[in-house]
Amino acid sequence: MRNPPWQRDELILALDLYFRAGRTVLDATRKEVIELSRILNELPIYPTRPDAEHFRNPNGVGMKMSNFLRFDPKYAGKGLVRGNRLEKVIWDEFANDPAYLRKIAQSIMDSVALKTALPAPYEDEDEFPEGKVLYRQHRTRERNRNLVEQAKNQAAEQGQLRCVVCSFDFNKVYGDLGKGYIECHHTVPISEYADRKTTKTSELALVCSNCHAMLHRRRPWLSIMDLNAVISHPK
Ligand SMILES: [Zn+2]
Ligand SMILES: [Zn+2]
Repeated sequence: MRNPPWQRDELILALDLYFRAGRTVLDATRKEVIELSRILNELPIYPTRPDAEHFRNPNGVGMKMSNFLRFDPKYAGKGLVRGNRLEKVIWDEFANDPAYLRKIAQSIMDSVALKTALPAPYEDEDEFPEGKVLYRQHRTRERNRNLVEQAKNQAAEQGQLRCVVCSFDFNKVYGDLGKGYIECHHTVPISEYADRKTTKTSELALVCSNCHAMLHRRRPWLSIMDLNAVISHPK
């Protein structure tokens, strides 16, 4: 009965603590380590924990932090060779921008603390660099039914129920089938979620499915204006 390997969200939080500790390892009795162990146990990404007693306990958190030592050029020692491949990936993606790492980690922790029911897993969430929790949080914000209705109604009243980037109009192309259809993209960067606990209509942009996919394709996400520029001057 072994627990599943650490996932992105968890490694982001462990790396964040590694940096907060001053690029070193904290032992299992430290309150920051105990706190992180508690948060990891509340992450909504594991339906089951085969060995709940040992799952991400403070010792495990400390060991995970020590796995980052070997990637750190500041560390003079040799470092351990064990660990999984994803640790290196996370190090490469986040270690050169600790401020961004801090924001993402805080957003994940805040999201967990909110205890909102996040939707079931999405098939593309594994590839999301900032982890599953924030991806689901983004999707939840885009699917806030009241706000989406409001945004769509406002646009429809002005005869503008079409993609704000490429002007694709589902009704025009698909006739009755496409009537009233459009997707919403939540324009606040996930790194700012820690400061914005709620969603406003003004933060939702109406986009077609293609433009929505393109908005999500790069890190950090393209803004609506960036994508506009791509469309008018394709490179
Ligand atoms: Zn579009
Ligand atoms: Zn989106």
